[in-house]
Amino acid sequence: AAQAKPLLEVKGLTKSFGGLAAVDGASLVVPEGSITGLIGPNGSGKTTLFNLIDDTIHADSGEVWLAGERIDGLPSWARAHRGLGRTFQITRLFGDLTVLENVVAAQRSFSLEQLGRIAVSGPEAKAAEELLEYVGMRAYRDQKARALSYGQQKMVELAQVLMLDPRLILLDEPAGGINPVLIDRMGEMIRELNSYGKTFLIVEHNMPFVLGLCDPVHVLSRGRTMATGTPAEIQADPAVIDAYLGD
Ligand code: ADP
Repeated sequence: AAQAKPLLEVKGLTKSFGGLAAVDGASLVVPEGSITGLIGPNGSGKTTLFNLIDDTIHADSGEVWLAGERIDGLPSWARAHRGLGRTFQITRLFGDLTVLENVVAAQRSFSLEQLGRIAVSGPEAKAAEELLEYVGMRAYRDQKARALSYGQQKMVELAQVLMLDPRLILLDEPAGGINPVLIDRMGEMIRELNSYGKTFLIVEHNMPFVLGLCDPVHVLSRGRTMATGTPAEIQADPAVIDAYLGD
C-alpha cells in the first residue's frame, strides 16, 4: 500500500497494574484512511492500549499523536473533541433511556440530572434518527436500551460514536458476541464509513473478520507490538504463529 500519512501515532506507551506491565512500550501507526487491525492473545494488552489512547485510563509514559498533534496530555473529552471516537467491548448505554435518547446524549457529556431532560426533537435528534436509520435501529428508537440484544446495543453504540463525527474510530470487538448477519452488516458499515473518510483501529478476536477487513494489522504480544503487516504477511509470520500457539 502507498505510504499514507499517519493519523494516529502511539510511541512507547506503558501502563503497569501493581507491578505487571499490561502495556509495555507499545508503538504503532494508524495510517490516515486505513482500517487498521489490532490482534493478539488474551491478556496481551489490547483493551488497555485502547484505554490509554483515549485516556479512559492514564498512561504511565509514552506519547499519543493524532493528526500531527500530541494529545497524551489531554483528557478524554478533549481527545474526542479532536476527532477520536471509540466503542467499548461491553457497551455503555444508559439502560433506562430510550435508544434515541442514548444517541442524542452522545453529543456531549450530560450530567445525570441533564439526562432526565434530553430533547428528542430539534437538529440533534434529527441527526440521531438518521444515524439510527443508518445502523438499522430506527424501529427501536423509543425502546429502552436495556431491552436490546447485545448486537443491537453495538449498533446503537456505533450510532453514538458517529454523532461526534470522529476522524478516527477505535472499535473494541465490533463482531464479538453478535450473530453472523449483524457481523456481515457491521463489516459492510465499516467499509462504507471508511470510503466516506473515516479511519478505523479495530480490536477483534474474529480472525476471518479482521483479516478480511483490516490492512495493516498490528500484532500485540505481552504489551508490545511484535509484528505489523498485511493480513497475508501476518498469517505467514512464524513469530506471530508462535505467539498465538504459545498463549
Ligand atoms: P487484552 O485486551 O489483550 O485481552 P487487557 O488489556 O485486557 O488484554 O489486559 C492486559 C493485562 O493487564 C492482563 O494481564 C490483565 O489482567 C491486566 N489488566 C488489565 N486491566 C487491569 C486492571 N484494571 N487492573 C489490573 N490488571 C489489569
